Amino acid sequence: MTGDNFYQIFPPNALIFREGEPGDTAYIIEKGSLEIIVLMGNRELQIARLGPGDIFGEMALVDNQMRTAGARTLSEVSVIAIGKDYVREKLEKSDPVIALFMKAILGRFRKMHASLKETAHGASVEDAIHTGDLVELEDYGLESAFTAGHLALTHELENALREKQLHLYYQAVVNLATHEIKGFEALIRQIHPTKGLIPPVNFIGMAEESGLIVPIGYMIVTEVCELMKKMERAQININLSARQFEEVDLIQRIGAILAEHCPDPRRVTFEITESILMSDPNRVDHMLSELKALGVKIAIDDFGTGYSSFSYLHRFPIDILKIDGSFIKTMASNPKSLEIVRALIGLASSLQMEVVAEGVETLDQVERLREMGCDFAQGYYYSKPIPITDTIDFFNRGVPSPEA
Ligand code: C2E
Ligand code: CA
Ligand code: CA
Repeated sequence: MTGDNFYQIFPPNALIFREGEPGDTAYIIEKGSLEIIVLMGNRELQIARLGPGDIFGEMALVDNQMRTAGARTLSEVSVIAIGKDYVREKLEKSDPVIALFMKAILGRFRKMHASLKETAHGASVEDAIHTGDLVELEDYGLESAFTAGHLALTHELENALREKQLHLYYQAVVNLATHEIKGFEALIRQIHPTKGLIPPVNFIGMAEESGLIVPIGYMIVTEVCELMKKMERAQININLSARQFEEVDLIQRIGAILAEHCPDPRRVTFEITESILMSDPNRVDHMLSELKALGVKIAIDDFGTGYSSFSYLHRFPIDILKIDGSFIKTMASNPKSLEIVRALIGLASSLQMEVVAEGVETLDQVERLREMGCDFAQGYYYSKPIPITDTIDFFNRGVPSPEA
């Protein structure tokens, strides 16, 4: 339980809440007994008597309706109060199907309850339940269509993984001083039998939300290791997403894969974003240290787009900064971008980190970056991400120097 949930004690004959008031808390009874009461005209009607272990007020947790009944203690009662925000947060993180059913069941229950009350006032049961159903469908129709669409996409992605439609493409990272290819960044694509090549923006979000990024991630590490056996010296970068860091055994699993398949972990770099660092700094710091202990390097991806305070950087074991492509793109036209790039190169150097410019598309950008002392560049100027079959050739052939 979190700090939002707390222990409360009520004396006998106390109203914990009244029918008709807004509510944002549910309760679990620990000791004592109470009654649930509804108003019938001027009359109070006891509809339930609850004791230790019983839950009440739970309908307030998932929607914004008023309390449909009141709760009054019959003896001294101690409860654990559970806030709506807490439940909402948990529900949002849970499987969308479970969340939808949870809301639908509570909604239906609330409406049935209202209908039955109405029935007691004279309307027919059938009318009441019928009306209740209609409202229920309106309320949840949109959301269930959304969830169904969501499910279909997740299912498609599961299929893609099983049918081996997910493939890594590789984009060269080039040393700006020597024009040598340092290595490659592995970038995932789906190759669909009829739709063709699908870029990661179309499915990475879904992979993260559904958790599928976890098995996909382990597959990526394994595949990269196999490629490395065929390319001596090449450094390979692998992207890790925030969702993967939620796995308690992430580092252990990666360690096991590297131990079994990797010819040299020192040639592997994991790319993470600033938001991963900031999500839970102590935990992530610990995980990164464990990751580094495997012999790999760590790069901060899309650097400059996340948090403006750089003061936190030195506390994490980071080897490489990758300057986000948006700064490189506007460097020639916007003096501010140019100064940001210069400052980031300086920052990396003073922290003894390597620096890579992303999204480099023109010779002009290459030259400016070299002048400013940037170590490496990656972008369409050198190469787009290419399939594995071309990667080994490309590495052996190398890139021509701009002067040549
Ligand atoms: P990212 O890690 O920042 O990857 C760089 C993206 O920039 C890639 O897009 C790459 O194709 C693109 N790019 C490279 N050079 C240039 C250039 O000169 N100009 C322009 N306009 N773009 C360039 P891609 O492959 O579509 O990947 C998009 C994002 O999807 C990646 O951004 C990364 O966040 C995510 N992603 C890709 N593969 C993986 C993966 O294996 N695992 C995880 N967790 N995320 C991945
Ligand atoms: Ca990346
Ligand atoms: Ca990037």
